[in-house]
Amino acid sequence: MAQHFDYIAIGGGSGGIASANRAAMRGAKVALIEAQHMGGTCVNVGCVPKKVMWHGAQVAEAIKLYAPDYGFDVEIKDFNWSKLIESRQAYIGRIHQGYDKYLASNGVTVINGFAKFVDNKTIEVNGEHYTADHILVAVGGRPSIPNIPGAEYGIDSNGFFELTEQPKRVAVIGAGYIAVELAGVLHGLGTETHLFVRKHAPLRSFDPLIVDTLTEVMAAEGPTLHTHATPSKLTKESDGSVTLHLESGETHTVDQVIWAIGRHPATDAINIAAAGVELNEHGYVKVDEYQQTSAKNVYAVGDIIEGGVELTPVAVKAGRLLSERLFNPEMPDAKMDYSLIPTVVFSHPPIGTIGLTEQEAIAQYGEADIKVYTSSFAAMYTAVTQHRQPCKMKLVCQGKNEKIVGLHGIGFAVDEMIQGFAVAMKMGATKADFDAVVAIHPTGSEEFVTMR
Ligand code: FAD
Ligand code: NDP
Repeated sequence: MAQHFDYIAIGGGSGGIASANRAAMRGAKVALIEAQHMGGTCVNVGCVPKKVMWHGAQVAEAIKLYAPDYGFDVEIKDFNWSKLIESRQAYIGRIHQGYDKYLASNGVTVINGFAKFVDNKTIEVNGEHYTADHILVAVGGRPSIPNIPGAEYGIDSNGFFELTEQPKRVAVIGAGYIAVELAGVLHGLGTETHLFVRKHAPLRSFDPLIVDTLTEVMAAEGPTLHTHATPSKLTKESDGSVTLHLESGETHTVDQVIWAIGRHPATDAINIAAAGVELNEHGYVKVDEYQQTSAKNVYAVGDIIEGGVELTPVAVKAGRLLSERLFNPEMPDAKMDYSLIPTVVFSHPPIGTIGLTEQEAIAQYGEADIKVYTSSFAAMYTAVTQHRQPCKMKLVCQGKNEKIVGLHGIGFAVDEMIQGFAVAMKMGATKADFDAVVAIHPTGSEEFVTMR
């Protein structure tokens, strides 16, 4: 007989783990099915290893660019890539242990294997059947590879995290978060890095102040940005290097080509049609505001949902709120609020953004209803050195009372500045509310409350 649960979560990533734990904390009998490593994309091949590498690059930059003007006579004698990877993986190992402990303490049954639907109440894993009253699909996504000749000679972000040696020359292709972050990390760690974007700039959907500043810093400090550069094919050279051919006819030979052109949902291999779950033409799951799919008692959260926001805290929050709704009688209407989600790009320098860009605000409310405040300065950490780096900020305000509908920043430590401002914006803060706050001096974040 199939083992029965109140709740089965498929996918032990950000959304699945959070939802499974919360459901169990509310008294449900829960199983969590994971095919690979607990923690999913974020912990194993995403946020966590990326941020460790980013910190590594920050250390390198501190020594190379900033230490001399702070009076330190230091030189980098050696950079041991393997040591950084070892430290990173040991840290991830400790996170895995933490997950195992927490899931066990909540009484969640962990099933290792690849899950497939039999019907909307039955899942098959390793030949065994499991049934549940409610099933969550949280299988996340995979990196996309373009359909051009020789594309297989490139690696994706998963391949980047498998590199056991530091590549000397790299071409990163793509224009989103991952391309910008990986190019910044590699450049910071000393790899000759080229970033190829097919349009005029990376991160095109961000506010122009951010995009312009990022490209300005890239021009001054690297990595080398190649715009209007569309790959046509990759060829492998006899020495193992790879040549990137662009539609323009230009070629660039490097040790690694990294594809970072977006991701697609991993909903193609789980027999999801057997459950009656409707997907869109790109494989994303259609859900309503309660994460409910078209199939009764089947839900989806995280990177696989249509129109979603592919960020770990979004998957986590949606997963937890779903469990509250299903298993906590005090929260029968719990649902995720997808508005004003703060986000950071761990670029060099980092970017933080909440809400609407200036253009989006104008499109939504009309130009006459929007007032914009900006601030531009050299981050103090860099200003005392020869490597002055800009820090730029923007507040997009709407209406007579200047409600803040967009907040954007790029510069030293912006990544650690914006979380609290997201709280204020969620509460409906206006420019006057920001002005009423006493600044913290000397910091970069004080600029957000002193703009004129
Ligand atoms: P995932 O975390 O992808 O988890 C899905 C899990 O399901 C996986 O473990 C997979 O093995 C498992 N699975 C798939 N199919 C099956 C099956 N049939 N049976 C059993 N298990 C299955 N977000 C941020 O907020 N901040 C960041 O800094 C950040 N950096 C990122 C950097 C990179 C390089 C990448 C790729 C992503 C980054 N993200 C970041 C995005 C973040 O990782 C994702 O939004 C988040 O992991 C999505 O969570 P999820 O639960 O939807 O899926
Ligand atoms: P994105 O979707 O963010 O960006 C990919 C970009 O690559 C596209 O927007 C497009 O930009 C460009 N592109 C698409 N196809 C091609 C092609 N064939 N050739 C060249 N360029 C192409 O994807 P990512 O993979 O960077 O990241 C996926 C998601 O993961 C992010 O959106 C984000 O939500 C999440 N993430 C979050 C991070 C964080 O929070 N710090 C870090 C990393 C990922 P254009 O149209 O301008 O060419």
